[in-house]
Amino acid sequence: MNKLLLILLFCYYLNAVDKKINVENGTVYFLKTEKIVDGRVEIGKKSIAFIPYNDSEMLAIIPFDYKSSLGEVCAKVFSGAKELETLVFNVKKGKYKEENLTVSSKHVTLPSKELRKRTSKEYADAYKIYNKVTKKNYLKKKFALPMSTKTTSEYGNARVFNGKIARYHSGVDFRAKVGSIVKVVNDGKVVLVDNRYYAGGSVIVDHGYGVYSCYFHLSGFDVSVGDVVRRGEIIARSGKSGRVTGPHLHLSFKVHGVSVSPLHFMDKFNNLVLN
Ligand SMILES: [Zn+2]
Repeated sequence: MNKLLLILLFCYYLNAVDKKINVENGTVYFLKTEKIVDGRVEIGKKSIAFIPYNDSEMLAIIPFDYKSSLGEVCAKVFSGAKELETLVFNVKKGKYKEENLTVSSKHVTLPSKELRKRTSKEYADAYKIYNKVTKKNYLKKKFALPMSTKTTSEYGNARVFNGKIARYHSGVDFRAKVGSIVKVVNDGKVVLVDNRYYAGGSVIVDHGYGVYSCYFHLSGFDVSVGDVVRRGEIIARSGKSGRVTGPHLHLSFKVHGVSVSPLHFMDKFNNLVLN
């Protein structure tokens, strides 16, 4: 019997399951609780702390990977060593589209050793950031979009490059000419400003407690690493750098190292806060 199934069986037979919750892959679930000391949710290998978000309640932001196995997963709510609640999440497949893309051949031919070294370092450096949980919560306001243009490619679209390499779109694209103003979606701290091979000109903003917003394919930067930014502040200019077919802004969200739908995250979060 596989390990996950065993854990799930323990979840059902050794504990009364307090709540069953339906979620979709590639989204987050905002779990609320009244104020508790050292509150956290343990799910899989992750331990997710509750954030104080108003006078009486706390919030845990639980991500479900796009590639997470579908079906039931067990989660436990703790206050210190005391177990408070057992939850079962039922992960269902979100309604995501499939699209075919043609990309310049220089990005598809087998990359050189030097290039592989560069891209794997960039990947490792980015995940070092995404997996870091800053114990400061900047999320006190509603989110605002980085620009007001139409979206041209949604999060979760399955992508087929030149009929070969299959992957999924880990963010949402906004229509934007080179040089358009890019605004930060909420308060936070700038943790990366760099030119990278695939993402091109990149800015990453830490919103605290494991939540990051990322802005890619930029042509210019208005901030530096370490800057504390406020929602709506101009952080960059959009562009067409990195692996792209044309100019646009790619916005992605990482929550505890997991890519989730930015628009779903912002919409759900905005229903929870007043400002
Ligand atoms: Zn994109």
